[in-house]
Amino acid sequence: MSDISNSHFGIHAKWIYTANSKQELLEDHIILIKNDLIEEIVPFSDFSNNEDLNILNLGESLITPGLINAHTHSAMTFLKGISDDQRLNDWLEKSIWPNEEKLLSNDLVYDASQLACLEMLSSGITTFNDMYFFPDATAKAATVVGIRANIGLVFIEFKSSYANDFTDYLDKGLKFRDDFRGEENVTTTLAPHAPYTVSDDSFLKIRTYADQLGMNIHCHMHETEWEIINSIEQHNVRPLARLDSLGLLGPDFIAVHCVHLSSSDIEIIKKNQINIVTCPVSNLKLASGMPKINTMLNAAQNVSIGSDGSASNNKLGLFDDLKLFALLQRNEAGVTEFTNSKNLFDMVTINAAKTLNMQDQIGSIEKNKKADLVAFNLSDIHLQPIYDPLSTIIYSGGRDNVEHVWVNGDLKFSETEFINDIDVETSINKIKLWKNKIST
Ligand SMILES: [Zn+2]
Repeated sequence: MSDISNSHFGIHAKWIYTANSKQELLEDHIILIKNDLIEEIVPFSDFSNNEDLNILNLGESLITPGLINAHTHSAMTFLKGISDDQRLNDWLEKSIWPNEEKLLSNDLVYDASQLACLEMLSSGITTFNDMYFFPDATAKAATVVGIRANIGLVFIEFKSSYANDFTDYLDKGLKFRDDFRGEENVTTTLAPHAPYTVSDDSFLKIRTYADQLGMNIHCHMHETEWEIINSIEQHNVRPLARLDSLGLLGPDFIAVHCVHLSSSDIEIIKKNQINIVTCPVSNLKLASGMPKINTMLNAAQNVSIGSDGSASNNKLGLFDDLKLFALLQRNEAGVTEFTNSKNLFDMVTINAAKTLNMQDQIGSIEKNKKADLVAFNLSDIHLQPIYDPLSTIIYSGGRDNVEHVWVNGDLKFSETEFINDIDVETSINKIKLWKNKIST
């Protein structure tokens, strides 16, 4: 396949979903790629190969923009399957936090993030939005794998092996941001963990840095009923109202989860034009509650989908999340119209790009955007017959149908193989060694 990794080539497929503003689903077109950008999208019938370019003919395939996982903790892959039968608070206090306290290190985060990046890339994900300790280790792993990463500068009001206090988290985060500034595939956000783990004073400082540096704020919000009760006990208001009064909310705010929303919360979300990232599989697995998808769609500036970490989902591939999102929306009280397959695909492409404020570069197949692309092979027996290729992937298919993945016009994954010199077996063996040190 090396001949399609050159700097100027074309891909011919039966279907191309552009995720552009017209939501065009093109049939029998060629995407021309030059260097790292999409040069043009042309009907096959109009194309004359004057420059004798390599054209990869994918036949019965669907090409979409590379998928974007709008919320994850990639390094938590080391805890995948450790406590599949616990609710969030027990899960955090008995399984997650004790093992993090015991094992957390730069090496662990690097090894676990690398495996997560390989999983995401082979699932058709070309960008992920991350929040975890040792963000520099995750950024380095992403760079080695060749996936695009938007990495949070994490803040939490307790000491960890990564940092001691707010100032230390901030200093380390800003140094990480500076160190990776020249790295094209790495961007950053400010990532306060959650209202129950970050003080008013720290939130105010984070708002100041967000304004000064033009960075988004990425934060867990209203994940559990307990979080709301705790906030009313501690602060006399619900978490969203508290952050609203601190001036923290706005179009640059990425609120993850929003499972529990009152009518006043919905007004706050609308007023501040907040972005919501929903993680339905994680919410249901931890019994945090049923996310009200339709309510979110009506309230938020943008809704996109995240897997959350592997410890609460066990898959970073987004397809289970996307299907569950569609099913939950249908079953919400008062819903009269179901989200169609194009709108669903937008949740994991262009909407997620807008959430990350990266829509000028990624999220759709359009001239001069980055050539981040996924090709799904739709000839599989399980997918027949095909009336709507997007619907086929959402409801009948998934990551097993991912055939090729490009990032910046470079082929990164093809027919079950990673193209870069990545030793997958070593990556798997390293995580097995970490597993041996886990306390259960
Ligand atoms: Zn999370």
